[in-house]
Amino acid sequence: MSYSLLAPGPVNLHPEVRRILSLPMIHHRTPEFDAILARTLTGLKKIFVTNRPVFMHTSTGTGGMEALLVNTLSPGDKVLAVVSGKFGERWAQMAAAYGGDVTTLNVSWGKAVDPKEIRRHLEQQPDTRLVLTQACETSTGVLHPIQEIAAITRELPGTLLLVDGITAVGALPLPMDEWGIDGLVAGSQKAFMLPTGLSFTCFSAKAWPVVEKASTPRYYFDVRAELAANQKGETFFSSPVPLIRALDWVLSDVENSGGLSKLHQTIERRARMTRFFAERADLTLFAAENPSSSLTALTLPVGFDGQKIRQRLEDRYQLTIMGGQDQAKGRILRIGHMGHITDAEMLRLYDAIGECLQDVGVPGWTDDRRRLIHADMERWIQEDTL
Ligand SMILES: *Cc1c(COP(=O)(O)O)cnc(C)c1O
Repeated sequence: MSYSLLAPGPVNLHPEVRRILSLPMIHHRTPEFDAILARTLTGLKKIFVTNRPVFMHTSTGTGGMEALLVNTLSPGDKVLAVVSGKFGERWAQMAAAYGGDVTTLNVSWGKAVDPKEIRRHLEQQPDTRLVLTQACETSTGVLHPIQEIAAITRELPGTLLLVDGITAVGALPLPMDEWGIDGLVAGSQKAFMLPTGLSFTCFSAKAWPVVEKASTPRYYFDVRAELAANQKGETFFSSPVPLIRALDWVLSDVENSGGLSKLHQTIERRARMTRFFAERADLTLFAAENPSSSLTALTLPVGFDGQKIRQRLEDRYQLTIMGGQDQAKGRILRIGHMGHITDAEMLRLYDAIGECLQDVGVPGWTDDRRRLIHADMERWIQEDTL
C-alpha cells in the first residue's frame, strides 16, 4: 500500500516534479536559470490571469501574505479584515502587528462573508485603506464571493482589496484583472503542486502607487526592488533553483494538458466526487454555503472524534488528510483536491473513511453498506469523466 498526501496542502507531487527536484544544483546566475526565470515569471501571469508582473518569494504562503501587507500598508491605516477561520485570524493579527488600525468582520465558521456587510462597513468608514479576505478559507472549506466584493472595492479609489488566494489561485476561477483584485497571493504547496517554499504575489495598477508610497519598513519583501531585479532578468536574492525548475515544468504541463480551465475542472471534479461520497455516507459538508472545490470539509457524526479517525487513516492506511482546527477540532475531516491525485487514490480514501467509521462504531455502517458505496463510487468515476 503506497502513501498518499491528500491534505489541502501540502499535496502529492507528480513523479516528474520529484525527478526534477533531484537534479544537480545549478547557480541562479546562469543563462540556463535566466531562461527558466523568464519563462516562469511569464507563465505565472496566466495562472493569475493578469497582465501585471507576478513576484516569486522564497517563503511559505504566510510570507506572501506578509509581502502583500508590508507593500501596501502604512501604520495607522484603517484595515477591514474578514475573519471566517484560522487564516483570516492570522492575516488580521499580522495587519495589527504592522500597525494597521484593524476592524474584523467576523463570520461564523462554515459561512461565507456577505458582501453587503463589507459595503456597509466601507460606507461607515470610507477612509478604510485595505480590505483583507481569503478567497477560500482553508480551515472551513468555504469560498468567499470575491467577484462581488471586488465589485464594491473597485468603485472606491482609496480602498484596496487584498486576497489570500493560497487555496484558490490555480484551483478555481479568480481572474485578478477582470474582477479588480488589488493584491493576490498564492503558494507553491497548494494548486501549484510543488513542495512548500515559494509564494507568489501580484499587485494591480490601482495598488502600485500605494506600493510606491507605503511607509511600513520593508526589505526582504520589497516588491519595488524585486521588480527592478526581475526587469533585469534577475531575482533580488538567491533563487530556490530546484523549486523554480519544478514550477517551470508544472506551468508547461498545465499548458500542455488543456490549460488553466482544465486544471480547474480536474480539481472541481474531485470536489464533486467527494460530495457524492459525502451524500452516500450521510456526512454533511462543514461549509454550509459556497463549498470550495479546492478542498472538502466533512462534518463527522456528533460524539465521534475526528482526531482519532484521522490518526487511524494515517497509521492503518498511510493516508494523510487533515482534521479541524480550534473550534472545529475533532469535528471535521478536511480532504484536499489539489495536487497529483489519481481516481484510485480518491477511491481508496473513501473506502478507508468508511472502514474507520465502521470501526469506531458510527451507527449504520456495515460491510454491506461499504460495498454498496464502493460500487457507487466506482460507477461515478466511470461515468463522470473529463
Ligand atoms: C496554506 C494556507 C496559507 C499559508 O500557509 P503557510 O503554512 O504559510 O504556507 C495561507 N492561507 C491559506 C488560506 C492557506 O490555505
